Amino acid sequence: MRVFEALESNVRLYSRSFPDVFSRARGSIMLTDSGLEVIDFLSGAGALNYGHNNYNIKAAITEYLSSDAVIHGLDLACPAKREFMETFDSVILRERGLQSYRFQFTGPTGANAIEAALKLSRKITGRQNIISFTHGYHGMSLGATAVTSSRFSRTASGICLFGATLMPYDGYLGPEVDTADYLRKVLLDDSGGIDPPAAILVETVQGEGGINVAGKKWLQSIQAIAKECGALFIVDDIQMGCGRTGEFFSFEFAELSPDIVVMSKSLSGYGLPLSMLLLKKERDAWQPGEHTGTFRGNNLALVSATAAIDIYWRSRTFSEGVQRMGEHMRHRLEAISSEHGGRFVVRGRGMALGFDCQIAETAAATVRKAFEKGLIIERCGPIDQVVKFLPALTIDLETLNQGMDIFEASLAETMKRARGA
Ligand SMILES: *Cc1c(COP(=O)(O)O)cnc(C)c1O
Repeated sequence: MRVFEALESNVRLYSRSFPDVFSRARGSIMLTDSGLEVIDFLSGAGALNYGHNNYNIKAAITEYLSSDAVIHGLDLACPAKREFMETFDSVILRERGLQSYRFQFTGPTGANAIEAALKLSRKITGRQNIISFTHGYHGMSLGATAVTSSRFSRTASGICLFGATLMPYDGYLGPEVDTADYLRKVLLDDSGGIDPPAAILVETVQGEGGINVAGKKWLQSIQAIAKECGALFIVDDIQMGCGRTGEFFSFEFAELSPDIVVMSKSLSGYGLPLSMLLLKKERDAWQPGEHTGTFRGNNLALVSATAAIDIYWRSRTFSEGVQRMGEHMRHRLEAISSEHGGRFVVRGRGMALGFDCQIAETAAATVRKAFEKGLIIERCGPIDQVVKFLPALTIDLETLNQGMDIFEASLAETMKRARGA
């Protein structure tokens, strides 16, 4: 670790929480230089939904690499992109009745895609304001940070962030208050004090914000409000898309029809950088070249993305498996909470589960102990008080249970020590 401490910027984060050198990985297991075998419930913060080095997907990219096919071609027409768009269109979009979308490949990060979505919304509406939500996270570039809630991230921008108004997310004011009513009221009131928005941007489950789950009715209200006030409705599906919540898109359960869907993280299926927007055809108001970038639609990542869709999404089997495993995880976490008098809160959908320890130190100590015992898992939420379970969607039941056992034992030790102190 000495080289990392001496040479890498102080900004590094995960290598502090998990101080070992990770050299190999396959599926849900990572190997470290010190000989540890670690179960991975972190999954690259949601970028590894199909596990590490998924051999089925790997075959497609090694074949592509060895064939001298074009790796980088700006946005020249290449077969890799054609096959990706055709496959995504037929297997994902048409199957779900979402046929009227176009693909915009942006720079490779999620933040790049968010910037493009905000820019397009502003261009279409001629408005500046974007509505986003408390505890939301959309990335670290200036535009994306402006719609992100965390004071820590906002302050780091070092400049006045503008063009966004953050409104209370579903449940923010407790279960009794429908925050969509408040949003509708202030937006439709000419003296509500909120500038008419270009877009309303929402996560259906807030990943970084603490696995906060929005309800179907609330999401439908937000979509309706966007329509009523002439704003675009954007779903940030960067972390919760690609099967994480049990269906390919996290908004399918609420039968939403967003103007723009933002995708990244697990889109490539292999941990390779790839981001895109799905735009309703009538929203595709760009002039040619009006928003460009050198690395838009990485061919290697498009090949692995196509393979992932081919392998996992042609039938309902995979999706049903994720839902079953997600229920199993939820039951185990609820049982663990019960062992401690039900003082912890379990939230989530599909295989995105949060275990809210309420107290940051409880979550921190538990995650630290879990790593010593061979489980890598991260925290989220406004004070990092939530332990975030994001195992690969391809994990086998035995490994999943081993990880859960480690978490259970680590929490028990933490609670015992807290009582002893
Ligand atoms: C990770 C994430 C982003 C930002 O993606 P980067 O690739 O880190 O720029 C945006 N929105 C959500 C919901 C995310 O989870």
